[in-house]
Amino acid sequence: MITFLRIMLTGAYKNIVRVLAKGDRATSIDMRNKILTLSVPPTPTVLDEMCIGCAGCYNVCPTDAITMVKLEKPVEIIEGYTKDQVPRIDLLKCIFCLNCHDTCPIYSVFGEAAPIHARDVGMPRMTLAEVLKKPIRAPPETIEALRELIPVESISLIKGEKK
Ligand code: SF4
Ligand code: SF4
Repeated sequence: MITFLRIMLTGAYKNIVRVLAKGDRATSIDMRNKILTLSVPPTPTVLDEMCIGCAGCYNVCPTDAITMVKLEKPVEIIEGYTKDQVPRIDLLKCIFCLNCHDTCPIYSVFGEAAPIHARDVGMPRMTLAEVLKKPIRAPPETIEALRELIPVESISLIKGEKK
């Protein structure tokens, strides 16, 4: 009986210490507080710096989850082509098919991580300027497929030609 009481009291004491001092919690107190205060930052789904604003992702999305938003300050990417919009994904409409990711010309053409991903775009490994200097590795049929998706003024960028 005494042993039983000792185990009970020890367990109760440990639980009280856990609750009050939060000393040996397995979960992150910091993350719990962020969840409770609705301040968990959303993971980025678009890398604005790498995106060329071609709207290819917008055109292939089967659920209309992507909206192209105008940039306050358009960015001249190369002579004759200025990026003036970037995509935003509505994750409530997204079905995570990754069409956008796989069709993004920065990924399709240059074989690097795409600037768009339905879950988490991850950390960029290169700047857009570095990506654009790389040799084009897309097969001709991919370039042709992209012609259907990308505005005429962007095609020279995809082919790496000067206007
Ligand atoms: S992953 Fe989502 S946002 Fe991208 S094309 Fe599919 S449904 Fe659209
Ligand atoms: S397809 Fe890629 S480069 Fe084109 S707008 Fe979408 S994210 Fe940007």
